[in-house]
Amino acid sequence: MINKITLMFNRLPWQTKLVLSGSSAIFLTFFLFSFLEYHTVSKWMMNREEIAINRTITDIATFYKAKAETLTRTDIIDTEEFLRNMNDKDQLIRVYDSKGNILVSDKNGNFPVLEPVPTRVSTTDRISIEGKEAFVARYPINGDKFKGTLEVVRHLNNYHKMMSNLFWVMTIFGVAAILFSAISGLFLAKQLLQPVRRLARGMKKIKEDGFQGRVEVYKQKDDLTELTNVFNEMMDEIEKSFQAQKQFVEDASHELRTPVSILEGHLSLLNRWGKKDPVILEESLDASLQELSRLKKLINDLLVLTRAENQRIVTVEKTDIVDLALKIISKLEIIHPDYQFEIKMEKNLPMINMAEHHFEQILIILLDNSIKYSNEDKTISISAVRDEGEVIVSVSDHGIGIANEDIPDVFNRFYRVDKARIRENGGTGLGLSIAKQLVIKYNGSILIESKEGIGTKVSISIPTATHNRKS
Ligand code: ADP
Repeated sequence: MINKITLMFNRLPWQTKLVLSGSSAIFLTFFLFSFLEYHTVSKWMMNREEIAINRTITDIATFYKAKAETLTRTDIIDTEEFLRNMNDKDQLIRVYDSKGNILVSDKNGNFPVLEPVPTRVSTTDRISIEGKEAFVARYPINGDKFKGTLEVVRHLNNYHKMMSNLFWVMTIFGVAAILFSAISGLFLAKQLLQPVRRLARGMKKIKEDGFQGRVEVYKQKDDLTELTNVFNEMMDEIEKSFQAQKQFVEDASHELRTPVSILEGHLSLLNRWGKKDPVILEESLDASLQELSRLKKLINDLLVLTRAENQRIVTVEKTDIVDLALKIISKLEIIHPDYQFEIKMEKNLPMINMAEHHFEQILIILLDNSIKYSNEDKTISISAVRDEGEVIVSVSDHGIGIANEDIPDVFNRFYRVDKARIRENGGTGLGLSIAKQLVIKYNGSILIESKEGIGTKVSISIPTATHNRKS
């Protein structure tokens, strides 16, 4: 049942929810307050009625007590005038003897015939007379010549009238308070929800018109302005990343198109003449295979770059750069015997915080570039120095260098300084982008210094692992 109500409440529009909660809170508070007030007033009134009846009976009893020694039946009968003076509204006063014979009686209001109850002790009780509540107080009169009972009966008309008035006043006020709270709640909820509705409208519009749109930020500064700002900032980020993705797909397709068209050219050449001409057949097949391996490298680089961009480094491995650099160089020396590799590593270098295969990937990219872009001087150096919690690894060459204006762009995807020439040596324009992405993932940085015609030095800084390198 409660679950059903909660479910129904949750399904209501926010405005109704706010109004309902506000009104119920006010109603409950008012109800509790009224309940307590009603009971307190009721108790207090009842007390007053009891005090009043007791005072009346004590006053009359004192009067009779003063004459106790001489008091006779006739004296009692003669007190009718006195009793009338002492009487109050809705009150009956009478005196009867020990047998229940009424000697004197004065009543103010309607009282039915009541059976006398002679008593020996004084009592005050609450009774019901024909459905009407009343107090009845009895007091024994113990004179020397007369023994009887003084009785006062007091209807609670006044009390009931007062309580009923209070009840109606409270009910009317309660209903008015609920109505007022509902109306003001409705107004307040409308005011409160206006910015949220505006935000929702803005978002809907963006959904329909495309995410170049933004939600208008209103002047008044509150939590919802903050929300709008956050939403707009998030949209900026999404748009930026969408544009970057789009650019990437465009660039990648463009890059893939060149080798594919070259392949297509060679294959149609083969198709037309190559079948009969062994020279053309040989040349075209060679060229096609070369183009295919370039295509393979491009696709592979694209894959590596995408992985580097999306990878989250969870557990950081430690790598000994000296060991690894020596291994890579010894392999390169075999493949490129005409190059001289120099290694200048500081002693006792700490391990770095990077997975071995990633460091290997970066080092190969940098060394491969130095090999590709070297001229007559084929000396390539690798150095590593420690620098305040980091190790700086640099690869430098004496190759063609990069023009100053091109340096800021070389980390961009597919950027090649001299496209036509570099295509020939197999460059895809992705190597430095991959290296940069990887270095950033490990909280490192990459820097390139180059002079056209003199040489290039690429340095990467990588945080060191906490403990020192094994000796
Ligand atoms: P690529 O696969 O074409 O080498 P990179 O991203 O590694 O792509 O490099 C981008 C461009 O930066 C290269 O095309 C080249 O023009 C230039 N470059 C990179 N390294 C060197 C270097 N050591 N010497 C001269 N130019 C370089």
